[in-house]
Amino acid sequence: MKNLYIGILAFLMIGLSQPVLSQNHLEQLSDNIFKDRGEVYFTFKIADKDEIYMLTRMISIDNVVGHTVYAYASKKEFADFLGYNIPYQILPHPGTILSELEVNQNQKPFRPGDRTIWNFYPTYQQYIDYMVGFATSYPGICKLDTVGFSIDNRLILAVKISKNINQEEAEPQFLFTSSIHGDETTGYILMMHLIDYLLSNYGIDPTITEMVNTTEICINPLANPDGTYHGGNNSVYGAVRYNANNIDINRNFPDPKVGQHPDGNAWQKETEAWMAYAENNHFSMAVNFHGGAEVFNYPWDTWVKLAADDEWWQFVGREWADTVHQNGPAGYFTFLNNGITNGNAWYEVNGGRQDYMNYWHNCREVTLEISDTKLLPVNQLLSFWNYNYRSFLNFIRQSHYGFNGTVTDTVTDQPIAAKVFINGHDKDLSEVYSRASTGFYARPIYEGSYNVTFSSPGYFTKTIKDVNVSKWTTTSLDVQLRPLTYDAQDKSVVSVLVYPNPSDGHFRLILPENPINPSCSIQIINTMGSVVYSSEVTRFSGNSTVEIEIPSLSNGLYYLKFNSGYRIYLDKLIIKK
Ligand SMILES: [Zn+2]
Repeated sequence: MKNLYIGILAFLMIGLSQPVLSQNHLEQLSDNIFKDRGEVYFTFKIADKDEIYMLTRMISIDNVVGHTVYAYASKKEFADFLGYNIPYQILPHPGTILSELEVNQNQKPFRPGDRTIWNFYPTYQQYIDYMVGFATSYPGICKLDTVGFSIDNRLILAVKISKNINQEEAEPQFLFTSSIHGDETTGYILMMHLIDYLLSNYGIDPTITEMVNTTEICINPLANPDGTYHGGNNSVYGAVRYNANNIDINRNFPDPKVGQHPDGNAWQKETEAWMAYAENNHFSMAVNFHGGAEVFNYPWDTWVKLAADDEWWQFVGREWADTVHQNGPAGYFTFLNNGITNGNAWYEVNGGRQDYMNYWHNCREVTLEISDTKLLPVNQLLSFWNYNYRSFLNFIRQSHYGFNGTVTDTVTDQPIAAKVFINGHDKDLSEVYSRASTGFYARPIYEGSYNVTFSSPGYFTKTIKDVNVSKWTTTSLDVQLRPLTYDAQDKSVVSVLVYPNPSDGHFRLILPENPINPSCSIQIINTMGSVVYSSEVTRFSGNSTVEIEIPSLSNGLYYLKFNSGYRIYLDKLIIKK
């Protein structure tokens, strides 16, 4: 937020030498400031950036430009701030700078089959109708999800766009979400536009068709509907930052540094809805849209230390900003390092959604500040779409790059939920996990060569060395893990293990320890079902390993069948000479 409105407002100064205002005086001041809404927007100067660390959990800092801070506060937060005797200036609230008439221009209700021009802010009901309309107009590739409900029982909705929309597929899941700060509305409309763009270009534009076929794209245009429609359901005029409890949702999440409740408040209904939604999905990458600045803000917000994937963040951030520069006017999206910044280097935030998603959900989520003006005039909404939509698409594509694949069980071929950890690289929970449902994992990462360890309880850990990744390319890496079939009750191996596998025909069998006959049988069966080897094995006491040498086996896949007398075990055997 770079525009100042000096002069049109009362400039309230509290001299540093002056004692703290009397309680009575404070209450009068507060009643006046908070008579229309539960929050105030204001600015003040700091002498040193360290002061931010003290203030960031007391008030909701919105922007820091040099030594000038812009912030919001509820009545309680503002009273705490006044206790510090810092001179401040109240600013017009961003939700009321334009008139209601200007904000409501071009409003158009949803009509099936009509072409929509996204140059307006819908009423709340129109918004719901559009979201439902997307899903009913494109039932094969779009469905409506309810993330949850706000405090005032408005709907928090998302649409999912993908081929085979009712099946969980082995593909990256991507999330766009906007306006968790209710008065930052540019992203709200740009996300409605994006939904419409993806759906209406499916089957027409080959790149969009390919993207929808291979990605599950989830879009939530309005994360804080009570904030955006604070002024009433017919207009976004009067939109506010906070939720209906006058709490900043984007300071209310668990924080990796500070802990469960960094703002001192219980998790809000909206916060809990998002936490559950993240748990029920498996987002690989996400964008959280804000306004009031123009910059790509990447993790961490809470920590000074850099993220494990700092190089990747700078690379994808640069791609985002450079693309915007090619398509936008001079001076747009050039804040801080020409449009990108490390979050903490700008100003520390605790309890933000970005760090929560990165740390607890292994999701690469960025805070994307899309317009200096929070409540953008309607006649600029199409221009901002044109500056930005290519960057939206590029970022979705980045969820396919790096390396990805499936993790499955060597015996059953069933998918496994496994940890995918990059040795000497991953830290602070930057690793990813494959999904139990499909075995699919996606690991966006900067170009390089990596040693990757796959692990899952009940399986032998496997490290794949020298996984090479280039920019803008996908390295496929499907991995099978061998079950340990370890019986937790009696601490014994209860399955047969083949080692090494693949082998040249000379291998060992590690036999189950119980229950077992002194005599067991082994058969090796080819893929046509013919038995190519069979023998009786006598297991000597204390020795659970049997050595087998079959030089006559040719290269290929075989099944090893082991009959213990009580149970039959099947495993795969690969011969590779
Ligand atoms: Zn914001």
